[in-house]
Amino acid sequence: MTAVSVRVPAKVNLQLGVGPIRDDGYHDLVNVFHAVSLFDEVTAGDAPSLEVSVQAAPYSRVDVGGVPVDGGNLAAKAAGLVAARLGVEPRVAIRIRKAIPVAGGMAGGSADAAAALVACARLWDDRDNPALTRDDLVELGAELGSDVPFAVLGGTAVGVGRGERLTPALTRGTFHWVFATADGGLSTPAVYAECDRIRAAQGEAAAQPVVSEALMTALATGDAKGLGAALANDLQAAALSLRPSLGRVLDAGLDLGAAGALVSGSGPTCAFLAETEEDAGELAEALDGTGVARQILRAQGPVPGAAVV
Ligand code: ATP
Repeated sequence: MTAVSVRVPAKVNLQLGVGPIRDDGYHDLVNVFHAVSLFDEVTAGDAPSLEVSVQAAPYSRVDVGGVPVDGGNLAAKAAGLVAARLGVEPRVAIRIRKAIPVAGGMAGGSADAAAALVACARLWDDRDNPALTRDDLVELGAELGSDVPFAVLGGTAVGVGRGERLTPALTRGTFHWVFATADGGLSTPAVYAECDRIRAAQGEAAAQPVVSEALMTALATGDAKGLGAALANDLQAAALSLRPSLGRVLDAGLDLGAAGALVSGSGPTCAFLAETEEDAGELAEALDGTGVARQILRAQGPVPGAAVV
């Protein structure tokens, strides 16, 4: 085989509970991940040495300017890990076609890393007697970042610890989403730092986060209205503090009848849940008309994780 292409979804955090800062600098998280049908495509092909190229996917308006095209790209790091594990040289050209907003709070870099793990394993491993199982790739993913294991698995899952210890969640049916992207990204570490700053200024000790029962019930029963009401992101106040204009985006979606709205992960992408597919279409069109966002995107979830195409 000389080239393998893998399609990998973006995620939205349905619940992002952020606990107190730990001694190692990380926070304990409760993270309900949900994979949505907004995909990057990563192709790994034989090459004389490690090469990386990044382009916006056809019809996508993603700004790929800030994405590294050297060993700093998370997909290149993933290729290096797979090569080391299999005892081969990482002689691979990695081509990334991005539709997931960069630094948008939808884990695009982690998604590309997950896709590269799957693509390189298929490229180099013995297909009849593979040394690497999907569980091994999930474990390798955790070495690259706490969002990577979920991008390998997809679906809907609850992550605890730094977010990387995953349990699949029971869901019913399909949920219909509208995403509003923004010009320029937000740095995830900066948003966590702002969250810590706000809590310290308020003299507020963060509680240990727990999974929302209302959210799990809504997922299990396919109740979009219930899910909309239960969406929660402890990083939202920090993202709004760093980017106050996001408040107008969230308000616009709620005024237009969204069943729920929240900042996705560390932002600045805003996510809106609609009750039906038809509602999602109307909401997307109306939001687009307000001009509050760089781009309005529609997606459905849950969808499977990184998969060879
Ligand atoms: P998260 O939701 O996991 O916090 P994000 O969606 O906010 O992440 P990413 O798109 O993953 O942010 O990008 C964060 C930074 O990671 C980028 O600014 C870029 O410098 C770096 N990066 C490394 N590899 C990639 C990649 N393959 N795609 C995008 N960004 C990458």
